[in-house]
Amino acid sequence: MKFLADAMLGKLARFLRIFGYDTIYASDLIDHYHTNPVPDKKINEYAVRSNRIVITKDLQFYKEIKENAILIEGEGVYNYLNQLKRKLNLDYDFNMEKTRCSVCNTTLKKVNNKNSIEEFVKRETFKNYNEFFQCTNKRCQKVFWNGPHIADIIRKIQNMTEN
Ligand SMILES: [Zn+2]
Repeated sequence: MKFLADAMLGKLARFLRIFGYDTIYASDLIDHYHTNPVPDKKINEYAVRSNRIVITKDLQFYKEIKENAILIEGEGVYNYLNQLKRKLNLDYDFNMEKTRCSVCNTTLKKVNNKNSIEEFVKRETFKNYNEFFQCTNKRCQKVFWNGPHIADIIRKIQNMTEN
């Protein structure tokens, strides 16, 4: 299942990527279409062409593209994740092997030689962790590791879905 997150849902896009869901954010299309903001019509066009479900908070837009979209309501990324879980049966099992880059949605690759990423992370992080993954997009190269920030996200998701 692939997604296209509408404007204002950038944080949700990042979270979906962390859990391995291929997610384009509407603002990522600004360069593609050379227009800002990207019109709804173009967003939907792109989603259809790349086989993505549009996630939107815009009721009007949703009504126009209902068969290809999910409407979410309220505020807060954990609330959104919970709505997607209920509506689409998503699971949020964290697995670094499946995680996509939260910045650019590209797949990650396990870092074989830790020294190669020393310049990309803070000194403390470099010392305290041995397993790193790196974005395979040459223009991005962001480095990821399974630190307390991930545990925190997982705990909040669990709390959200228990209620
Ligand atoms: Zn990246």
